[in-house]
This record gives sequence, structure tokens and C-alpha cells, in this order.
Amino acid sequence: MIPVIGAGLAGSEAAWQLAERGEQVELVEQKPARRSPAHTSDAFCELVCSNSLKSDDVYGNACGLLKEEMRRLGSLTMEAADRTRVPAGGALAVDRDKFSEYVTQKLRQHPNIHIVCREQTALPEAGIVATGPLTEGALYASIEARFGGGLHFYDATAPVVTAESVDYAATFTADRYGRGTGDYVNCPMTKEEYEAFVTELLAAEKVTLKDFEKREIFEGCMPVEVMASRGRDALRFGTFKPVGLADESGRRPYAVLQLRRENAEGSLLGLVGCQTNLKFGEQKRVFSLIPALKNAEFVRYGVMHRNTFLDAPRVLNADFSVKDAPMLFFAGQITGVEGYVESAMSGMLAGIHYWRKLHGKPPIVPSEACVMGALSRYVAAENKHFQPMNANYGILRGLDVSDKKEKKRLMAERALGEIDLVRAALAK
Ligand SMILES: Cc1cc2nc3c(=O)[nH]c(=O)nc-3n(C[C@H](O)[C@H](O)[C@H](O)COP(=O)(O)OP(=O)(O)OC[C@H]3O[C@@H](n4cnc5c(N)ncnc54)[C@H](O)[C@@H]3O)c2cc1C
Repeated sequence: MIPVIGAGLAGSEAAWQLAERGEQVELVEQKPARRSPAHTSDAFCELVCSNSLKSDDVYGNACGLLKEEMRRLGSLTMEAADRTRVPAGGALAVDRDKFSEYVTQKLRQHPNIHIVCREQTALPEAGIVATGPLTEGALYASIEARFGGGLHFYDATAPVVTAESVDYAATFTADRYGRGTGDYVNCPMTKEEYEAFVTELLAAEKVTLKDFEKREIFEGCMPVEVMASRGRDALRFGTFKPVGLADESGRRPYAVLQLRRENAEGSLLGLVGCQTNLKFGEQKRVFSLIPALKNAEFVRYGVMHRNTFLDAPRVLNADFSVKDAPMLFFAGQITGVEGYVESAMSGMLAGIHYWRKLHGKPPIVPSEACVMGALSRYVAAENKHFQPMNANYGILRGLDVSDKKEKKRLMAERALGEIDLVRAALAK
């Protein structure tokens, strides 16, 4: 019997994939005996917040493309979402109760799935752990002890933009005091630009945190807007300090935002020190005031919320198995993917990879040409500043096409072509 721990977005999908391939699965779920502060229903695959699974545009949106990739590989989540959808323009929104009920019934009625209601308190030796971003208590302690740390309890992240959308005419490349290998892209600001930025940052709307998400913030991960509220010059002496940085003409700017690579390819750049709790639209509006970011494409917004996730590059392989425990896998948000669909995707692949390994078959990890391959590889790739990632074009292998719309269409065609090959290879 293969243990799958947690019947959320990822665990439900993982259990389904294994059971459909003929394995006996023990699906361990703590509900209804115990619930996280965000879970309210007794059903599996519960959407804890929005009922939208984001865009359904296969040829113009990376999350829409991921959905189609999953459909083609037989995702239960996508089957449930397609059958319980409600009108929502270009988004795939669902009737949340019907959606969860659909998945719950499918799992309960499956002859190979044995549901056990209990709280898992220790990391198993084998199986798939999918206990989600609110994993806590004894299981959290057990995971942390097993990996010697390597587990985060809270997410304080800065926005990420695509490298190709930065206006390099308004940047210069340099390391502070010339120490380093020219890794930072510097976005200088004049006094007027800095003042305008601070004014809008202070006035911008913030997200209201739920009680369980509030916590004492360490000085090192203070939201940029809180830092700015300490005085007009606070950022110039902190996150945006220009000391040790001179542009090509040798001049020190009034203030500087630094951008740093988020992935090995350098296709994504993070706004250093700009962890923020502003609403997403406000982040785009305010950070776009920085000249180099005036047309920036934001692929991930900053968040400050409760989020249990592994230091995946240290702990996991790209097939979601643990580096030094071949039959122990993780799936879902705890692996460092972010979002409902992304979590379900990792559960689907973890289930498929587990089954292949069990039967002595080599893993088939899709390439960075498709979203599921790019996300799988992102979580396992070496990364000193690892932060969770959602579906976006920045992590996909590039394509040299200047028309943005056409580029997305061609990327989608390439991705779906690869998924069809993966499906054929998995069937062998
Ligand atoms: C408050 C909040 C709001 C979010 N809103 C959104 C959103 O609007 N859109 C979006 O795309 N993403 C959102 N996310 C992010 C993420 O996509 C979801 O959390 C998603 O549900 C993650 O899927 P998962 O399978 O990893 O975890 P979950 O769906 O949380 O599933 C984990 C399951 O494991 C069970 N479990 C936990 N611990 C144990 C244990 N010790 N023993 C047995 N069972 C256990 C839980 O009861 C749960 O059923 C949100 C996250 C949070 C925390």
C-alpha cells in the first residue's frame, strides 16, 4: 500500500494517478478530525480561497497552457474543473463545492484507494507527502529534523519580472564596491523619481492578512512599504542605497534598485529587498514608476504569508523525489510550486514518477519547453535564493520571436507537442 499524505490539490491528484495505474493507495487526510485555519469543508481538494483556477487561455497565458498540458496527461483536477466550471470570462472558475465533491466522490469510489482519517505526525520512509502550505506541528518538526532545516514556515518574497521586459537603457551592471562578477542589474533613480516612488509606495493599498498569517517580521524581511514609512530617506539608506555603485560615467545615482537573477538562465529577475504586502495591481503600478521597469512584465508578485515550503533545490530531484530517499516524494505547494493548478500538477507528476520508479522505469521529466517541465526543473535547480514559483513564460525555454502574441502561441504549440510525446512515452 502506497501512503499519500494529504488529500488537497496535490495529494488527491497523486493518489488518483497511482490508483489508476493499479496501485493500492492509502490516502491519509486529517480532516474532518483536524483542520488548518484556512480549511473549512470536509471534502477533499478544497479551494481555500478564490474559486478561480486562473486563466484558461491555452495560447496566451502560461497557467492556461499548464491546464491543457494536464488535461492531455489525464488530470483528475482538470476533469473536475471542466465539469464544474462557472462563467468567468477568460478564467476557469468553478463551483467550489461541486468541484471538491466531484474529486472526493472519485477518490472514495475508487477500489484501489483506501481513505484513512488521521493526522500524520511523522515523515514516512516512503510515499508521497502533500500536506500543503499550512503543514505544521509534529509533521513539520519531523520534516525539519529529517532535512536539517531546509524548511520554510513563512514566505516574504519580492516581485519578479522577466529579464526581457527590463529597459536596459535605464540600467547599468555593477556589483557594490566592484566586488563580484557583475551579477546585478542596477536601476538608478534621480531625486525626483525616488520621491515620486516613495509617495506612491506609501499611499498604495495593502493586503489585509488573516490572523493566522500575521507574525512578527524580522528586520531583514521587513516589507519595503513599512521600511519606507520610517522616513523619506529610509530606503536610500537601506534597500535602495547607492553607496559603492557608480554608473558607466562614474557617477553615484541618488537611489538604486538592484535586480538579481532568479533562475540559472537569467530569464527572470527579482527586485532585491522589495518583499511587499501591497495588492498585486498596486505592485505593478508603483514599481513601474522606476524608469527601468516602466514596461516590466511581472510574472510573480511579492507576498508575505504563511507558507510551509522546502528548500527544494537542496532536498528534491526534478521528479519530486527526495535526493537521499528514492521512494519518498513530496508534492504540492510544499515543494515550492505556487498555486492551485501548479500544486495539482506536481501531485500528478509525483504520482506518475512514483509509479515508474516502483516498476524500475526511468523518470520522464518533461523539458523546459512545457510549463510542467519548467516548473519541475525550477524547483530542483541550484538556487541560493530559492523562492516559490508559479506558472509563467519566464521559466520556459526562450523563443526568438519579437511579436509577443505570436511568441506565446508558438510556445504553446511547442509545449503541447512535447506533452503529446510524453504521453506516448508514458504509455509504453
Ligand atoms: C490562505 C491561502 C490562500 C490561498 N489562495 C490561493 C488562491 O486563491 N489561488 C491559488 O492558486 N492558490 C492559493 N493558495 C496557494 C495554494 O495553491 C493552495 O494552498 C493549494 O491548496 C495547495 O495545494 P496542496 O495540495 O499543496 O495543499 P492543500 O490543498 O492545503 O492540501 C493539503 C491537505 O493535507 C492535509 N493535511 C495537512 N497536514 C496533514 C497531516 N499532518 N496529516 C494528514 N493530513 C494533513 C490538509 O487537511 C489538506 O487537505 C492559497 C494558500 C493559502 C494558505
